[in-house]
Amino acid sequence: MNRCCAENGSLSFSGILAANEDTFSDASATIVADAVIPMNGSKTEHGVGAAFCVLTNDIWAYQWSAKLNDNNTVFQAELTALHEAVIYASHLPNHNTSKIHVDNRASIMASSNSKSTNETARKIFKILISNPRIKVSWVKAHAGNIGNERADQLAKDATQHRQPYSHTNLPKPRIKGLLRKRMLEEWQTLWKNGDTGRKIYNIMPSVSLRPTNWIREDVIFFSQHGPFPAYFKRFHLSDRDYCSCGGIGTALHYATECIYTVSWHMRKPAPNFKKEWLKRVTNNLVSRQKIRGIIKFISENRDLFRPL
Ligand SMILES: [Zn+2]
Repeated sequence: MNRCCAENGSLSFSGILAANEDTFSDASATIVADAVIPMNGSKTEHGVGAAFCVLTNDIWAYQWSAKLNDNNTVFQAELTALHEAVIYASHLPNHNTSKIHVDNRASIMASSNSKSTNETARKIFKILISNPRIKVSWVKAHAGNIGNERADQLAKDATQHRQPYSHTNLPKPRIKGLLRKRMLEEWQTLWKNGDTGRKIYNIMPSVSLRPTNWIREDVIFFSQHGPFPAYFKRFHLSDRDYCSCGGIGTALHYATECIYTVSWHMRKPAPNFKKEWLKRVTNNLVSRQKIRGIIKFISENRDLFRPL
């Protein structure tokens, strides 16, 4: 390993790649790290597998495998396998040299960069820089390399049988997505079980981060918190809830029957279909314009709607 390069923030693996003498002395271990997404199953069903196995004196001395979270990428699995392999190698007695074989160039590149954006890659870099007897090199995948085949199989088996591995961080966009989903679920539960805003809930039972394009007048109409006699009575701002026309001054009254707002009237829903009617009105631009007209008119002519 070239220390000069290391101090500049990147490790050169070229020298190691050239040295490919596969003779094992007593004091050397060959470690093969690998990761897979099982080809015979979907990723969501079986997750991603990571593994490494250790060959010392032609004997399989140790093996490690784990099933990663379904949200992890293969790249993260490759880095996790390499990280575990490097940790294992760093705990071997000092006179041992270890060669770690990886069939994924991207994880080698990431781990040779001290400023990698990937945390696991930076951890690997740190261990490698302080353990020069650990060498990492690239091997071609599925080229009959016995260690590679074994690590591949271990990783595959791990996706079927292993307990999930929890030390690997999820990629940031995935975390954001999960948090957003979680937040929406909580918001939805609160919205569903809450006791305020029920009139709006009837129209919009599902929470959403998409803007609704509601303006002040829409909110007033659909929440029925506005210049309606029925609202004033409900909140004890008045002791009468009827309109000066004689009807009960609800939002629906003005939208469908009040003699003062005839020019914006819509067809009155049957008593059992109020909810559907409100939903339809919400989604209809012409109806929304009418509602806005009504609210503006009532707001500007309050005296007209107050019973004498
Ligand atoms: Zn009226």
